[in-house]
Amino acid sequence: MIPYIDIHTHQSQTNHKDLISIHSLLPHERDLNKNQFYSLGIHPWYIDHYSSWSEAKDFLRARSTSSEIIAFGECGLDRLQGPDLETQKSWLLEQLNFFVESRFKVCFIHCVRAWNDLLPLLKKTLSSPSTSEKYFILHDFNSSASEFQQMIEVENLYFSLGNNFLKPQSRLHQFLDQIPLTRLFFETDESDRKIGEVYEHYLSQFDQLDGKVLKERIFQNYKLLFS
Ligand SMILES: [Zn+2]
Repeated sequence: MIPYIDIHTHQSQTNHKDLISIHSLLPHERDLNKNQFYSLGIHPWYIDHYSSWSEAKDFLRARSTSSEIIAFGECGLDRLQGPDLETQKSWLLEQLNFFVESRFKVCFIHCVRAWNDLLPLLKKTLSSPSTSEKYFILHDFNSSASEFQQMIEVENLYFSLGNNFLKPQSRLHQFLDQIPLTRLFFETDESDRKIGEVYEHYLSQFDQLDGKVLKERIFQNYKLLFS
């Protein structure tokens, strides 16, 4: 059986043969469940939770040794919430360096209305030969068509569709068919919906696409990045 992949969630789910999910840890979450995968980073909304980057770094170092933690992030930039953008940028730079030096292959990126600030930083991170095996997943992806044209040029960037994608007015529908299946994921994030609903919504946009083919493709993407 091919499992659904919920690439980014805050629900407490259990991985089983029908579902593999990656739970993105927030600062107040302490206990790890053995049957769950996690990602670890400092979300831009919660930078204030730490007195300094050095404290946060010690925390990340100590915690990232757990085998249940299989990815870095979410980290990123948010123009609508969290501290001022300059603070967010300096924390993001520190976290990108941490990610590059870490054992993790994948980093989840949170970005709200800040693509112009974020993209150059991601490109720079991926430009070194030492990062050829590092990948970014842009979670709850949402951008304009012209911003997307710049992103699609950057290899090792993946697009995860979730809450924004499900909104009827979403701009993603202008260029949905240009996101390659080989660089696609789905997520539930903070919602309590089932991941199957996001797959179904995607399928409803394409007459010719078979549900099984889609599940298999997303599973292959997952295996490529997480094994
Ligand atoms: Zn999230």
